[in-house]
Amino acid sequence: MRTIGLIGGMSFESSAVYYRLVNEMVRERLGGLASAEVLMHSVNFEEIVSMQKAGDWDGAARRLGDVALKLQVGGADCVLICTNTMHLIAEQVAARISVPLIHIIDETAASLKAAGRRRPLLLATRYTMEHGFYADRMKSLGVEIAVPEAEDRTIVHDIIFSELCAGKVLDSSREKLMRIIEREMAKGADSIILGCTEICLILDPNNLPLPGFDTTTIHAKAAIEFSLGADRKREAA
Ligand code: GLU
Repeated sequence: MRTIGLIGGMSFESSAVYYRLVNEMVRERLGGLASAEVLMHSVNFEEIVSMQKAGDWDGAARRLGDVALKLQVGGADCVLICTNTMHLIAEQVAARISVPLIHIIDETAASLKAAGRRRPLLLATRYTMEHGFYADRMKSLGVEIAVPEAEDRTIVHDIIFSELCAGKVLDSSREKLMRIIEREMAKGADSIILGCTEICLILDPNNLPLPGFDTTTIHAKAAIEFSLGADRKREAA
């Protein structure tokens, strides 16, 4: 079994989900008391959020690049950045290491395409919905994403940072998200990307009016496939 390196802490609420998922998936696949070989470096999220707010993406890339390298030196055979937003600087982080960086957008695009979905609605932070890095990479992989209207993007962003990352899961916010989904469904969305690694804490991807694609689960599953050797292509890359 190869060791999975997780860059966590963004936020720790979702890192805890990653940790549980990779372990559960290994137990399910191998049986008995099998569990995942994992190294996690969890950063101080406050520091990363300050960089996001200041638009200091190069600083964040250096910081997460240092962490990725530490994980590799510590024995990680692959690295995951456990947040969609920080994939904005994924190329810079990947350039610092020689082990593969398992990319959340690539894995999510592959899941959408395998399910025949072509017009997913992205629910994510403002950075992920507005910066362009997510939509551009999805487009290069053959998927055209839709995002909510400006006012709704603010609602989603605020729910993520003020509530989910702070450990609060509110029914009133779940209802707001469901109303946003209904509005976008009427405009032609054919699926929902839970494009922030905390959204699975408030929305069940299997209980939405459209097929849901939870990036946390998809990303964790890709790590397990790599770890257990199912993905020979990536190993060779
Ligand atoms: N975990 C979230 C994401 O997947 C947001 C936290 C962050 O800004 O990194 O985008």
